[in-house]
Amino acid sequence: FDDRDGWVWFDGKLTPWREARIHVLNHGLHYASCVFEGQRAYDGVVFKLNEHSERLARSAQLLGFELPYTPAEVNAATAELLAANGLSDAYVRPVAWLGSEQMGVYTRGSKVHMAIACWEWPSYFSPEEKLKGIRLEISRWKRPAPDTAPTESKAAGLYMICTMSRREADGRGFDDALMLDYRGYVAEATGANIFFGRGKELHTPTPDCFLDGITRRTVMGLAREAGYTIVERHIRPEEMAGFDECFLTGSAAEVTPVRQIGDYSFKPAEACSTLLHAYSDLVRVEGRAARAAAAAE
Ligand code: PMP
Repeated sequence: FDDRDGWVWFDGKLTPWREARIHVLNHGLHYASCVFEGQRAYDGVVFKLNEHSERLARSAQLLGFELPYTPAEVNAATAELLAANGLSDAYVRPVAWLGSEQMGVYTRGSKVHMAIACWEWPSYFSPEEKLKGIRLEISRWKRPAPDTAPTESKAAGLYMICTMSRREADGRGFDDALMLDYRGYVAEATGANIFFGRGKELHTPTPDCFLDGITRRTVMGLAREAGYTIVERHIRPEEMAGFDECFLTGSAAEVTPVRQIGDYSFKPAEACSTLLHAYSDLVRVEGRAARAAAAAE
């Protein structure tokens, strides 16, 4: 991934992609003092950019460090980077970490660094293809308690659990993993939140030990507009037998229907189809409106 043309915004300036490097004695690498975001640009505009930039700052604060840039500066850097790379439909990855100024568990003397990278990422699958649904395995790894780790932070360290779950699921032929939480309730997939549908009711786990995703909140709004009732509550795994539909939400995943989780089956139907289409319409409409507002300034 490191050998390509293009630009990375690195500590405040556009840097050639191949030169955006860090030292092996990096605090973020050794001790996971690192936070990041995952965003998508549609028609050249990142959907919910400011929410993502603010969450990045909050994630860092939860780990005890302050970003050297304000969310407004991060927003401007993101727009500059997309334009420099000539990208319109792209994935955008801001990341902030403690550098290689010192090597120890303590953070005294460490500096906060930040980069933003982006690369082309069109929506690969047609709605018809997505509506077939993906298959999840129930992971043996659990989301930790909020007094074990800063679970509201999009902290790199918390993704160790996700990458182990995902690797095991991949190895057994599944598309992704469903993680339960430390109490045994249904939590989320490895990079997305989860919803279950029964008629006009959607049930989704209370986000008290994992990310309350930006897409999750957006889709809840779209669902209410479409006449669905949302029930946020703790969901036991065996309750999955009582639902007809299931889908994931995330900036990368968008709305992804699910057809199987372990021994439970679902059939993507009206809720999946309605929300998948409503979300893909919204991201472009908001992008167009943001571009028009910027042009009018
Ligand atoms: N949970 C995890 C573990 C994630 O990585 C993501 C993706 N950021 C989400 C949930 C969904 O968050 P969002 O909708 O803000 O992208």
